Amino acid sequence: MENKFPFSDDNKRYHTWNYHLRHKFNSKVFKVSLNAGFTCPNIDGTKGYGGCTYCSDEGSGDFAGNPCEPLSIQFEKIKNNMHKKWPDAKYIAYFQARTNTYAPIDVLKKCYEEVLSFDNVVGLSIATRADCIDEEIADYLEELSKRTYLIVELGLQSTFDETGEKINRCHTYEDFLHGFNMLKQRNINVCVHLINGLPGETKDMMIENVRKVANLGVHSIKLHLLHVLKKTVMAKQLENNEFKLLELDEYVQIICDQLELIPENVIIQRITGDGDKEKLIGPLWSLKKFVVMNEIDKEMVRRNSYQGCKFRKSE
Ligand code: SF4
Repeated sequence: MENKFPFSDDNKRYHTWNYHLRHKFNSKVFKVSLNAGFTCPNIDGTKGYGGCTYCSDEGSGDFAGNPCEPLSIQFEKIKNNMHKKWPDAKYIAYFQARTNTYAPIDVLKKCYEEVLSFDNVVGLSIATRADCIDEEIADYLEELSKRTYLIVELGLQSTFDETGEKINRCHTYEDFLHGFNMLKQRNINVCVHLINGLPGETKDMMIENVRKVANLGVHSIKLHLLHVLKKTVMAKQLENNEFKLLELDEYVQIICDQLELIPENVIIQRITGDGDKEKLIGPLWSLKKFVVMNEIDKEMVRRNSYQGCKFRKSE
């Protein structure tokens, strides 16, 4: 079946991150994941202890650098590894681990400005929580976004507060909207993270999460598969049969339903997860990432559907 979807160079039926970067920068661009050693209000007791129930020791930054090393060393090591494959690539420095706007503004500035001075860094991606954005930080991010390609990544995971409570997220959907709107009003690119398969979430809820986020005017979305990692609260809950992991075929159906609801201009930065295989309890099928991505492609072809084919702007 002929694929007429415009925002992919490799025959996908969704707006791929690679397509976006290639066309924007005319070069291979990859993210270099850093760990600046920040903490999180869910961990230090400001909002909660223990973190979100799925959060690993590394604070959702399992592939980021070593926080004991300076950013310049982390950057060099990770970059050099990836460089073997793409010698002419450029980079987006990615502050990935924990909450990367949760520090005094001077500390944040020092970190961000340092990495922006590294050779061939064309942009900055900052992972954080919406309740850790205030006016001062938003103003600085606005100024930064005029100087570089900036994306602020907000970990929402679910729009349902009942799920937020179950996973110990310690902020509400309304809190999210408040922080999100501060960024949006300043024309800052926002990527929203959602997780499919959280405890208590039905397929309809997962679809509803995307329906709501698709209507916010986001720059990009990351659709994650819930990964249960060793030594997390969720690992215990799974052991006690408090919830079930998604099967591959369920996941494929959910993702395809979700893609159909996302406007075609929204970039899909991720449609599955990248679990550390040493720590992953399940779903183990997710380790075969290419199989998962192929199954999604096949299902989109079988349906003859495209990203955004069922998107409706809400009133
Ligand atoms: S907000 Fe992020 S870093 Fe903080 S506990 Fe939750 S997953 Fe971990």
